[in-house]
Amino acid sequence: MNPEESFWSPAIRSLVPYVPGEQPKIPGLVKLNTNENPYPPSPQVVQAITAAARQGLQLYPDPQATALREVLAAHHGIAAGQVFAGNGSDEVLAHAFFAFFRHGRPLLMPDVTYSFYQVYCGLYGIAFEAVPLDEQMQIQVADYARADPLAVGGVVIANPNAPTGCALPLAAIEQLLQSQPGRVVLVDEAYVDFGADSAIGLIDRYPNLLVVQTLSKARSLAGLRVGFAAGQRHLIAALERVKDSFNSYPLDRLALAGAVAAYQDHAYFEQTRFAVMRSREGLTLALEDLGFEVLPSSANFILVRHPRRDAVLLAQALRERGILVRHFGSPRVAQYLRISVGTPPQCEALVQALGTILVA
Ligand code: PMP
Repeated sequence: MNPEESFWSPAIRSLVPYVPGEQPKIPGLVKLNTNENPYPPSPQVVQAITAAARQGLQLYPDPQATALREVLAAHHGIAAGQVFAGNGSDEVLAHAFFAFFRHGRPLLMPDVTYSFYQVYCGLYGIAFEAVPLDEQMQIQVADYARADPLAVGGVVIANPNAPTGCALPLAAIEQLLQSQPGRVVLVDEAYVDFGADSAIGLIDRYPNLLVVQTLSKARSLAGLRVGFAAGQRHLIAALERVKDSFNSYPLDRLALAGAVAAYQDHAYFEQTRFAVMRSREGLTLALEDLGFEVLPSSANFILVRHPRRDAVLLAQALRERGILVRHFGSPRVAQYLRISVGTPPQCEALVQALGTILVA
């Protein structure tokens, strides 16, 4: 045993943690590597946080996040009892994995998806089966059907998927829900506001559906750490049990105030998400002109590859020019780069740099 590990519990020696994208403090860096929103949050969010900071920080926050859950419920046309809020959607996902997937049966997930899902499986001892995307890097829901649905521990997918950006229509989500009536199907909608359809409207019809969303992407609040789940009350009750066995106050007073304000400034949300979508379309065309293959994206990032250029070398060359993009080492995506959609000047800088790199 490595002597540094002698104080560790045996369970953590074999953990393979998630590796977040870099957050370097380099002035002038064009940071297109962690799918943040290039626009700041609504000014109303900043005002609400400032007001909350002046009032009551000596007191614990509301453990039930009631005001936020009411705002989220009103926004999505569901009941506040059908909403669970947590410290970023990563925490909500972790609680959901603990609450619903420890069946001793494999959890099904795409082979190419958000890599944190496998990390939670490692943390909680959940068996999983990676179901390959098809040749076009798309999820085929028929591949998740099993003769004995109870042989499955559940299903988790991201819609749009990450890092492909590709979205499934709601009809496909319904097919998935119907094929797993006895197990939870978790749909992670971190990027849904950039062009996919949310399954939240289906929760009343499917007792096995849990939808997870975040305020980190389309609401520009990655730094505030707020995410939530929507589902029928029996699913929310299970998440509350896990939360209240772990941390009663996952959302602090500033986060609660800022998150509520983000939903109150609807105009700003519409304006910024459409700006990102417009930039995505422009960036896609510009990269295609440079010879890149770009997967169709409904997210705030695109997954691209160049038929004749090595992805790692391209990422390095961009880095030398002060532009960060994300490369993943897993075999199916090793020749791709995931590029977050920036502001128009950031996208322009990327296209110019790639143009120079490709002629060199
Ligand atoms: N789901 C997916 C698919 C993601 O890409 C991310 C962001 N890395 C998350 C969930 C987590 O987001 P957050 O914890 O910031 O809400």
